[in-house]
Amino acid sequence: MPIPFIQTRALEYTYTAEDGQAISALRGIDLTVGRGEFVALIGPNGSGKSTLARHFNALLLPTAGEVWVDGLLTSDPRHVQAVRQRVGMVFQNPDNQIVAGTVEEDVAFGPENLGVPAAEIRRRVDEALEVVGMTAYRHHPPHMLSGGQKQRVAIAGALATRPDCIVFDEPTSMLDAEGRRQVLQTVQRLNAERGLTVILITQNMDEAALARRVLVMDGGRIVRDGPPEEVLEAPEVEGLGLGRPFAAEVARRLRERGIPLPPGLLTVEALAAALRCTFR
Ligand code: ADP
Ligand code: MG
Repeated sequence: MPIPFIQTRALEYTYTAEDGQAISALRGIDLTVGRGEFVALIGPNGSGKSTLARHFNALLLPTAGEVWVDGLLTSDPRHVQAVRQRVGMVFQNPDNQIVAGTVEEDVAFGPENLGVPAAEIRRRVDEALEVVGMTAYRHHPPHMLSGGQKQRVAIAGALATRPDCIVFDEPTSMLDAEGRRQVLQTVQRLNAERGLTVILITQNMDEAALARRVLVMDGGRIVRDGPPEEVLEAPEVEGLGLGRPFAAEVARRLRERGIPLPPGLLTVEALAAALRCTFR
């Protein structure tokens, strides 16, 4: 069991709508995410994924219950800056995250706000651009880049504050196939090579299958928590209408045609290996 990094206890959150109506978005979340984990968070629209994610860097504070990040209680005002430094966020729309006229100024924005000295900012910007493969674009205006490149600049911006964890809230949903590939590869590398704790919110089951742990939300609760092989084909998860990973769907159709295949085939590689055994 890794060292706990994010912990929530009996977390509840209630929005007040414009007409004064209370909307209960989180209804008792007890969750521990360990340092260095790669967790996918899935669930239908409105199930509370973004609301939960915003508690992980104190953008929202609990209506009831507690959230700790690296042992720091987020609702203690003295901890807000330390919590925000530890947990970065990357959002859905790459255009909304651009704040400056060149890529390098954009990446420098976070550490500048934290009061990091100029020489150290330059080092961090260099490193962050290198990590996401965007060094060649450092003097480019961000709005000229492709969606996938913009998201990688947003990731570099998050990295430049030296977080332990990045929460990605549907980072690929506005990207084309190539942009998705670039962003996911970057996310996977940050986790595998740099030990970054990753929480990936996604509507795409192929992306969820890349994580080592999948959390499923429904109606403000976590209704499933386990490895993708167990969670993504569970009948009650299929009932939520989130779809299946491409390979799992192909495997299902092949089984219907009488080809015996084991469950838990979530990637094209796993499916190909199983077919090779079947037709040996
Ligand atoms: P998800 O990210 O899973 O789609 P959200 O966390 O955005 O879900 O929303 C959870 C619930 O909270 C939904 O019922 C949504 O309508 C409501 N909600 C989200 N943001 C607000 C807000 N700013 N004001 C009022 N209700 C909100
Ligand atoms: Mg959302």
